[in-house]
Formats: sequence, structure tokens, C-alpha cells
Amino acid sequence: MRPVNPATGEQIDAYEQADEDDVEAALARASDAFESWRQRPMREREQLLLNAADVLRDRKAEYAELMTREMGKPISQATAEIEKCIWGCEHYAQHASAYLADDHYPSPAGSTVKTAYDPLGVVLAVMPWNFPFWQVFRFAAPYLTAGNVGVLKHASNVPGCALAIADVFREAGYPEGVFQSVLAPSSLVDDIIADERVEAATLTGSGPAGRAVASTAGEHLKKTVLELGGSDPFVVLEDADVEHAAERGAWARNQNGGQSCIAAKRFVVHDAVYDEFVDQLVEEVEALTVGDPMDESTDVGPQARQRFLEELHEQVTASVEAGATVLTGGEPLDRDGAYYPPTVLADVPANCPADSEELFGPVATVYRVDDEAEALEVANDTRFGLGASVWTADRERGERLAGQIDAGCVYVNQLVKSDPRVPFGGVGDSGYGRELSAIGIQEFVNRKTVWIE
Ligand code: NDP
Repeated sequence: MRPVNPATGEQIDAYEQADEDDVEAALARASDAFESWRQRPMREREQLLLNAADVLRDRKAEYAELMTREMGKPISQATAEIEKCIWGCEHYAQHASAYLADDHYPSPAGSTVKTAYDPLGVVLAVMPWNFPFWQVFRFAAPYLTAGNVGVLKHASNVPGCALAIADVFREAGYPEGVFQSVLAPSSLVDDIIADERVEAATLTGSGPAGRAVASTAGEHLKKTVLELGGSDPFVVLEDADVEHAAERGAWARNQNGGQSCIAAKRFVVHDAVYDEFVDQLVEEVEALTVGDPMDESTDVGPQARQRFLEELHEQVTASVEAGATVLTGGEPLDRDGAYYPPTVLADVPANCPADSEELFGPVATVYRVDDEAEALEVANDTRFGLGASVWTADRERGERLAGQIDAGCVYVNQLVKSDPRVPFGGVGDSGYGRELSAIGIQEFVNRKTVWIE
């Protein structure tokens, strides 16, 4: 495996790809590790998670640079990502015991009825490159602490991150086999899921990858959690603070090079403030610094792979041919590296790629709507259902609209974000199941009812 630095087009280090024998050895180690790991007292598992947070803290700069080199994330955002992983570890170190405490139920006199949360065993994580540390810690911090063991199959363009994460757990003192990275191709994923030692799988990534994993897991009756794409609406009502919304919107669309499942993608704007909002959005977007991701002042780096830039540009070109108007951007930058400029598209016809598909890069679409009812109609006019935001001066109105938007989460006057304290996940083509919070840690456990007479 030879990952390419998307900022320069140069190859980075070489890594050996795992084959069937490597996978077999990893599953054997994982399965061996599980029996003693599940018996470890919770407080010891929580302490190990705190140790992992310490390793991340000590090596923050090194890991941030690694991410930036492999997938082009601006270095300031890579640093923030490691800090978020530390937060995730500390959150579960502090709360896992409470999240997994026995629940007691009403029972006949003299008997005790409760549910206990037992770990399942070996859980496979198929993870993407866009948040190469956070997506993995979001999986590992809760599920390892619940007593499961994890096998990571990371995206093929971030093998250095995959191995570095395994190092974090090793240095933190986790027993061998509790967390492993296998640099396996996706063609081996079906066999891993089918293996009788694997109990469950979680995937974050594209719809096709999610469907493939869910279908194999279904065949073998194994539990899955899927976090797939999104086409989040960003609804600006006529009473919103337009300047603030435009500034936050530009960031929500363009952070991480626009390569986030919960980025604001479709800006749905009330006619009364449409012109003002769009002018300010374009101004904000044009003010973003696009450039070398190793530079602390860069806001938008390259796309993670040349192929992703080409696919994004095909979507933009097809949408423009269908009638969309480019307000800014719209052409790859004429320089080395996979650079696409922050772009805004208006007059987007129904069913063109910019309208109906996920744009996984720095391209915003804006829609003019006449009233709240139409805003809701456009917001819900998608097969995805991950996140949404509503911008209004009236909190009650925002809450009412939140109740009418079909998504896994709705934020009012705030960017959609994942936060260890609250559940995260989607509906429709955005997947199913929830990560984070108490609900997340309870996804891969056996809720065992125990009745004692
Ligand atoms: P993929 O969904 O292809 O990759 C995500 C992970 O799934 C990787 O580890 C990948 O491995 C693996 N994978 C891919 N195909 C299969 C399969 N058939 N069976 C099992 N595992 C599989 O995403 P891409 O990296 O190709 O990105 C393409 C698009 O996916 C993006 O443009 C975006 O729309 C979406 N995406 C969404 C993300 C999100 O956060 N929701 C994150 C990343 C992408 P390998 O790399 O070896 O192919």
C-alpha cells in the first residue's frame, strides 16, 4: 500500500497489505483476548482508556501531522481531531460504568429482575478516511470499555493512521488482541464478517459499502451499526441573524475540505433574506484560505484523493449542464495537489447530482423558499437523514421545526456536530443505529435479563 499525499501528489511510506493469513492470525488473537478482557473489572478498563488519552495527548502533534499527510486535513483541524479523541476517551472513562449499570424492573415480591449489559465479543470496524482518528475512537472508546474487542479495517488511504491507533492502545497498556488494525483490502471484509469468531460489525462510509456490509452481516445474523452519508439541510428563516448564519454556514460546509457526512450541504433560505444571505455566504466562502494543509492558517486543504476531486467535479459539471449557476468556485484549482475551491451553486434543478446526491467536498447548494412550509418540504426532500440545522431568532419556532425534520439530529442556531455526550446517527440512506452517549455504548452488548426468584 502506497498512500499518496493529496497536497503534493507524492507517494508516502509503503505498507504491506494484509492477506488471509494475517486476518486469520488477527481474529485468533482477538478471540483469545476476549475471554480475559471481558472479565477485567470495569474500573481497570476505564483506567486503560485514560492511559490512551494520555498517549494521544503526548503524541498529538505527531498524529495530527500523520493525518494531514495522508488525507490532507488542515493541520489545525487535525490537532482539534486528536483533542476530540482525548475527550471521547475521557468521557467514556468517566461514564461507562453508569451507562452500563444494571437496570432493575418491577418484579413480584421476593424476586429481583434486572438487565445486565454483557459484551458481545469481537467487533469489526470498517472505517473511513475523513476523520481517520475520531471515527475510530468513537467506536473503540465505548465498545472496548464495554468489554468487547475490536478489529479495525481502516480505509486504504490512511494505513499510517490505522497502525498509529493500534500503537496508542498498545502503549496505553491494553492486552494483546484487544484492539488490532489489519491493513486488509475491502475484498476480505465479507470473510471477516462471516467468520464465526466475529459477533458484530460497524461501518462508517458510503452507501454502497454500508449495503455490502449489512447484506453479509444479515446473511450471518450479525448485528450492525451503519453511519453513512448525508445531505444535511441548513435552514435559514427570515428572522435569523443572517450574518452569523452565513459565517457558520461557510464553516459548516467547508471544514475538513467539505468531506464530512454532517457538513451543511443544502442551504434552504427564506426569500426575505435570500439575497442578503447568499451574498454573505459567498463572501465568507471566498475569504477562506485554501492551501497547504500543513500551514496553521489554512482553512481548506486538498481533497483526500485525486479521484474524489474528479468525482466531485463531475457532479458539479453535470449540475451546471442541467441549469445550476456557479456563484463562486466551480473549477479545480490550477496547481499541484487535489485542490477544489469552496464553491456555491444556485438555481439547482431538481434531481441533478447537486440536488439529489451527496456532495462530499466544498460545494454548497442554495435554495430559495417562500415560507416555512416550503422550507420543510425542501429540507426533507432527500433520501438521507443524518443531520439538519435551523437558524431563527425564535427558539420555540426552531424547536417546532426540529420536530418536523426527518433526521437523526437537528440543531437550532448551532452547527451539527458529533459530541460524546449525545447520540449520533441517521435514518434513511444515512444508516441506522447510534454511536456515542449511553445509547452508543449499548449498541454492541447483550442486554441480558436476569430473574432471581
Ligand atoms: P467507502 O465507503 O468506499 O470507504 C469507507 C470504508 O469502507 C473503507 O474502509 C473502505 O475500504 C470500506 N469499503 C469500501 N467498499 C467496501 C465493501 N464493498 N465492503 C466492505 N468494505 C468496504 O468510501 P470512499 O473512501 O470510497 O469514499 C467515497 C464516498 O463515500 C465519499 O465521496 C462519500 O460520499 C462517502 N463517505 C462517507 C463518509 C461518512 O463519514 N459518512 C466517510 C467516507 C466516505 P477501502 O478504502 O479499502 O476501499
